[in-house]
Amino acid sequence: MINAVHKIEEVKKQVNEWKKQNLKVGLVPTMGYLHEGHKSLIDRAVKENDKVVVSVFLNPLQFGENEDLDKYPRDLERDLEVCEKAGANLVFNPEVLEMYPESSCSYVNVENLTKGLCGAKRPVHFRGVCTVLTKLFHIVSPDKAYFGEKDAQQLAVVKKMVKDLNFNLEIVGCPIIREEDGLAKSSRNIYLSKEERKAALILNKSLKKANSLMENGERNAAKLKEIIENEINSETLAKIDYIEIVDSENLEKLDKIEKTVLVAIAVYIGKTRLIDNFTFKLN
Ligand code: AMP
Repeated sequence: MINAVHKIEEVKKQVNEWKKQNLKVGLVPTMGYLHEGHKSLIDRAVKENDKVVVSVFLNPLQFGENEDLDKYPRDLERDLEVCEKAGANLVFNPEVLEMYPESSCSYVNVENLTKGLCGAKRPVHFRGVCTVLTKLFHIVSPDKAYFGEKDAQQLAVVKKMVKDLNFNLEIVGCPIIREEDGLAKSSRNIYLSKEERKAALILNKSLKKANSLMENGERNAAKLKEIIENEINSETLAKIDYIEIVDSENLEKLDKIEKTVLVAIAVYIGKTRLIDNFTFKLN
C-alpha cells in the first residue's frame, strides 16, 4: 500500500532523501474524494517526475462560513487506492492542527485576480488557497505542481503568486476531465439528486453554444454572455452566480474578444454550486 503520512516532518524527510538522489518531485494538491479529474493530474505528474506526492487536505481556510466544509465528502481509503494505482509515491494527509497550529497567523494574499469571478462571492477563498499552497510548496519543495483548468481562476492566481513571490517551481495546468455527457467531474457532483444531475448539463451545454458562436466569429462579450444566460435560464433548477468573459491571464473583464479569453461560469443547481469554463484562443 502507498505510504500515507500525516506529519510535515515525515514529508520533508522523505523529500530530502529523494532530492539527495537528484530525483524530480511532482506535487498534486487536492482536497480528497478523488475522481478521474484528480487522477489525470497524478498521471501527468507521474509521467513528468521521478516521485509524486499527492496532498489530501480539506483546507478549512478556503471555505467561507456558510459553505460546505462540514458536508464535503471524504474517503481516504479510496483516495489512497486511486493514488497507488496511478503510481504516486507518497500521500500527505495532515490534520488541520498540523497545518495550522493555534498560534498560526500568517496568510498569503494575491490581489486583483481574486476580486472577480469566484472571489467576488467567496471573499476568503483564495487567501485560503494561496496560504495552504505556500505551505505545501515549502513542505514538499516540488519541481512541478499540477492544477486542473477546471478551477481556472485558481490556476491563474497560483501562477501569479509563484511569479510574484519567486517560488522555485513550475505550475502545470491540466485539461478539464468530464463525464461522458459533458458534466465536468467534481467532488461536489455527489450532492446532486438524479434530477439535478440532469439539470447540471446546462453548464457545459451553454458554454458549448458560446464556443461555437465564437468559432463562427462572434466577438461581442455582452452578446455572448446574454446567450449563455438565456441558455442557463431555460433550465428551471439552475440559478446563475456569474457569467464572465475575461483575459485568461490577468482575469480582467473584456468587452471584445481580441485575445485569448476565459469564459467562466458558476451556477447553482439546487443548493450545489458548480463551475465550468473554457478558454478561447485567437490565432
Ligand atoms: P480539489 O480537490 O477540488 O481541490 O481539486 C484538486 C485539483 O484537481 C485542482 O487543481 C482541480 O482543478 C483539479 N480538478 C478537479 N476537478 C477536475 C477536473 N474535472 N478535471 C481536471 N482537473 C480537476
